Amino acid sequence: MTTILDGKIASAAVKQELQAQTATLSAAGRRSPHLAAVLVGTNGASETYVASKVKNCEEVGFRSTLVRLEQDTAESVLLDTIARLNADPEVDGILVQLPLPKQISEQKVIEAIDPAKDVDGFHPSSAGKLVQGLPSFIPATPYGIMLMLAHFNIETKGKHAVVIGRSNIVGRPMSILLSSNLPQGNCTVTICHSHTPNLKEICLQADILVAALGRPEFVKADMVKEGAVVIDVGITRVDDPTAKKGFRIKGDVAYAEVAPKTSAITPVPGGVGLMTIAGLLKNTLQAYGLRESGINN
Ligand code: NAP
Repeated sequence: MTTILDGKIASAAVKQELQAQTATLSAAGRRSPHLAAVLVGTNGASETYVASKVKNCEEVGFRSTLVRLEQDTAESVLLDTIARLNADPEVDGILVQLPLPKQISEQKVIEAIDPAKDVDGFHPSSAGKLVQGLPSFIPATPYGIMLMLAHFNIETKGKHAVVIGRSNIVGRPMSILLSSNLPQGNCTVTICHSHTPNLKEICLQADILVAALGRPEFVKADMVKEGAVVIDVGITRVDDPTAKKGFRIKGDVAYAEVAPKTSAITPVPGGVGLMTIAGLLKNTLQAYGLRESGINN
């Protein structure tokens, strides 16, 4: 029997909890948590992600501000925008949607965000704290996956987790969380990347397999152990003239052939993507709480 790790169900549970907490704040006459999102340019996928983040803020009662900048925005203009949001006492969390146009250094932008407002968890200060097991903002996608594992009571302790991908946004923080002494951690973790020669053999040893490489349907049934838990992070737009929008969203896992072998699997779409937003919202409330109590994360 395969459990479908449905992001709609798990994210609805997180959002319900956040909605109740925001309602309590409002009943006490307190301001709402406030997320500021910055979108540079008109990348179709980025537009969709940011719109969804703003909509989800509204659903749980958060305030949100969307700052739109032109594709040809100079790096200095974006850095000034971030400085303004850093200084705004009514902004709790700042996210700058990636990727950014070529003229802008993503690293500079990530480092310009006040770590106390770093709800994406990409600042080196947040990453360092995560590695040392200190309270921090956890990058939203790995955080969402941990929330998903918790929601569906997936046992992780003592399991062998294999993570394909080592990006700072997904793979690396995922490997740290799964190996940490946390309720959904305590795994023995192997992290793989494009220089891993025996990827298939390693994947076949995985009790929990996290695919975060951005290669549509890369993970095939012959790479997955019977009964494994498979988490598909991949989101790639693949051209398809028969689809209404001219493309389809594909995950990194060949779902149809892999799902029957698994004990649990996330669908794409409708899996990790929804949990990423749940993670972001949780971070925003955390940033709000820390600011209101005068504590720096
Ligand atoms: P990324 O920065 O491009 O990193 C991809 C990683 O995969 C790299 O570490 C790369 O290895 C590794 N890789 C690439 N090809 C490989 C191969 N053939 N075998 C083994 N490893 C390989 O991507 P990312 O930002 O982590 O995102 C990964 C995927 O997740 C993308 O599809 C992205 O759209 C999606 N994503 C989804 C969400 C969500 O909310 N669901 C959020 C973020 C990202 P090297 O380091 O050696 O190059």
